[in-house]
Amino acid sequence: MTDIIQLLPDHVANQIAAGEVVQRPASVVKELLENAIDAGATSIKLLIKDAGKSLIQVIDNGKGMSETDARFCFERHATSKIRTAEDLFNLQTKGFRGEALASIAAIAHVELKTKQALQELGTHIKIEGSSIVSQDLITTPKGTSIAVKNLFYNIPARRNFLKSNQVETRHIIDEFQRVALVHSTIEFSMYHNDNEVYRLNSCNLRQRIVSILGKKTNEKLVPINEKTDVLTLSGFVSKPEFSKKKRGEQFFFVNDRFIKNSYLHHALVSAFDGLLAGGYHPSYFLYLTVPPSTIDINIHPTKTEIKFDNEKILYAIIRSTVKHSLGQYNITPALDFNRDSTLDVPYDYKDVKSSKEPKITINPNFNPFKAETQKTIQFPFKRDSKPQEWESLYTDIEAIDVKNIEVESEIINNQLFENEISIAKTHQVHRKYIVSTIKSGIIFINQNLAHQRILYEEYLESITVKEAMSQQLLFPLEIGFSKDDIQLIKEIQLDLESTGFLFDKIEKETIVVKGIPTTISESQVTIIIEQLLDDIKHEIPETSFSQLDVMAKSLAKSLAIKSGSKLTIKEQESIVEQLFLCKEPNHSPFGKPTFISMELEEIDKKFGI
Ligand code: ADP
Ligand code: MG
Repeated sequence: MTDIIQLLPDHVANQIAAGEVVQRPASVVKELLENAIDAGATSIKLLIKDAGKSLIQVIDNGKGMSETDARFCFERHATSKIRTAEDLFNLQTKGFRGEALASIAAIAHVELKTKQALQELGTHIKIEGSSIVSQDLITTPKGTSIAVKNLFYNIPARRNFLKSNQVETRHIIDEFQRVALVHSTIEFSMYHNDNEVYRLNSCNLRQRIVSILGKKTNEKLVPINEKTDVLTLSGFVSKPEFSKKKRGEQFFFVNDRFIKNSYLHHALVSAFDGLLAGGYHPSYFLYLTVPPSTIDINIHPTKTEIKFDNEKILYAIIRSTVKHSLGQYNITPALDFNRDSTLDVPYDYKDVKSSKEPKITINPNFNPFKAETQKTIQFPFKRDSKPQEWESLYTDIEAIDVKNIEVESEIINNQLFENEISIAKTHQVHRKYIVSTIKSGIIFINQNLAHQRILYEEYLESITVKEAMSQQLLFPLEIGFSKDDIQLIKEIQLDLESTGFLFDKIEKETIVVKGIPTTISESQVTIIIEQLLDDIKHEIPETSFSQLDVMAKSLAKSLAIKSGSKLTIKEQESIVEQLFLCKEPNHSPFGKPTFISMELEEIDKKFGI
């Protein structure tokens, strides 16, 4: 019998390992940044070209490598960071597997320049697909520069499956932030296609968070500090009133590594119990330090999960520390997230502003936001309202509707129901559903989902047809954003403009908005743009068309009338009409049904007739 088992040649083994370590350009960024930190650098520069697809270079001023080490660092399992198995239980460095450089060198063109402080000349090595192409002496500053070019050049299947530049850049920025947020005393800079994305000076943690996430973050932070036998906890959480609709800025670091742990995330969120309105998420930047022996060290290079020995104790400490800190900073639980935004602006100013009316094809009188405004403002302020009006505010909703139906409603013959259905009356129940009879039975329309569909189609059309209406603001709004959010805003600026937003300036960390779509109010602007950016980041649109789609969806979701809003008969009818004029009336933009119907026969059956 012949033997068939062989050891794989190194370059093949390295390529296989690379498949695990290097999933995308951002993985290379992470490994190189971590190596620079392990080398004791105080200044680290990251250069990227084409979202890392053609170049990723990290230049540090760390301790550098000797000539032999410079060759040896590309071998698999070559590390200076651990020597014995015991070292695994006392890890102080980010790397320890000795896999990263070997993997990267197997799938890219790598150029290394490195010099130790006491060396006169440094080492210059070029390596391609695991083979050293050249090695010579070079004049170079102390420290190391590693340039990784043409990633996956020899694995087309991987290269072709890289996502768009926008997506890959997003991943790189995420990794960069996760490293920079931990090492605030290290100076970092990042350049993409020669444009400066970040320049972060050595500073304290709070300043680092602010310089990454934008100046306006400063006022939002509540410091957290706790030291016990099992852990040291420090960092910041956002004041509840600054919580966001989307989970965006949530960073947990354990022993200086970014991690995700849903159990500890829950501990943190539960500290906000009673302080957040449903659907809002706190931001946090929490730094846990635990003895290295109490965590599972076998952290996979590309994974961010981690196991703790004493999770339950950590949970309790995190929860109570954060709760305590929130209390100390005098945060009142009585926050009203559903506050009527229209009360933020004086009325006469508001009236001036709404000089242009929204373009509505079916029912020109219908504007759900306007209707809401009137309702809420008239009640407390119009002192001369007749007593009946006051009373009616307290009357049962159903009763009002019934009265109105008698007076106002007419039978509408809607052609779109293909003559089979004709709407006779509408009726709102539980401030959530519009019930209407149709020829064959009865339909329940969810007002929120239906309106989402209507707005979604409207926005898609106005974005693509480019004739959105805009209302000029008397006083342009200045809103602060982080640098990478600004970058994203620049990318979607044209599309935003085609929905009616107008920008005066888009600067380093602020935008100045001078016009907004007619369908939104000024006080909603910040939250809508923030939500939109979050949606784009999370949905990670692949093409510019899908980006438009994400925008239209996001705006529709933010702006649709919500459950809980009382609708007049006119408004109800308008929703029904507009819904059935939509191209796809049956579903919300997120695929939920907008209405359900019940056939007369079905109802009959239930009665046994
Ligand atoms: P690990 O970080 O797990 O040890 P790597 O493959 O990332 O494995 O790196 C291998 C070795 O190369 C490191 O242990 C370190 O000694 C050396 N090295 C890598 N990058 C640098 C750097 N920027 N400066 C100095 N030494 C480095
Ligand atoms: Mg490493």
